Amino acid sequence: MRHRPFLIIISSPSGGGKTTIRNRLLQVVENLAYSVSATTRPKRPGEIDGKDYIFVSRDKFLKWIEEGELLEWAEVYGNFYGTPKTPILRYLSQGKDVLLDLEVNGKRSVEFAFPGRTVSIFILPPDLETIKKRLIERGTESGEALQKRLQLIQDEMEHAFEYDYWVVNDTLEQAVNRIVAIIEAERLKADRALYAPLRKGLTI
Ligand code: ADP
Ligand code: 5GP
Repeated sequence: MRHRPFLIIISSPSGGGKTTIRNRLLQVVENLAYSVSATTRPKRPGEIDGKDYIFVSRDKFLKWIEEGELLEWAEVYGNFYGTPKTPILRYLSQGKDVLLDLEVNGKRSVEFAFPGRTVSIFILPPDLETIKKRLIERGTESGEALQKRLQLIQDEMEHAFEYDYWVVNDTLEQAVNRIVAIIEAERLKADRALYAPLRKGLTI
């Protein structure tokens, strides 16, 4: 059964597993697109421009804000991050659900922009020690940048209370399977269903 496409927002403290889970979801879930954010943060080794992020200068980012290219933007850990508007509208018009990796302010803005068309998932670590260890062992930040991310973990976890679903990232496979189950159930919600005999004339 076809459904009216929706937006899936995932959040977690840094090191929670968003990037790892997202890459796996894009491999296993059909008809799912990823909203690639723009950022002013430096590229990490292995990250691909246009796939992981659109890496831009501060000047270009500010110009995009001014020109209304971004659906929302936020300053996180000292850098700018924002969601380009056009690709999301294109994916929805193609009938694809869209996955977004956002911090809590971005989540609120996207919910405001698309009322009733979002599903929010907060990814929780099995415990605080594990997330700290994963973040440190990822090795992508050090010094002050790492300390900032570590210090914010506990506060950021408090935002979990405003999300629709909680998923603990114990093993990657289990965490991915839980999110697949959420997406499959959300796709079957009666108020999203495009079932011709009961919803004549209703389109995406
Ligand atoms: P985020 O994008 O939320 O900051 P990452 O996806 O980069 O988090 O994950 C942080 C680190 O933890 C990475 O090195 C990743 O390989 C590792 N990791 C993620 N999920 C798991 C898991 N379930 N078990 C063990 N390590 C994991
Ligand atoms: P990282 O630098 O670890 O990739 O991401 C840092 C934080 O920025 C994460 O909390 C992530 O969810 C958030 N983020 C990434 N892209 C966007 C975006 O487009 N908008 C907002 N508001 N947050 C974002």
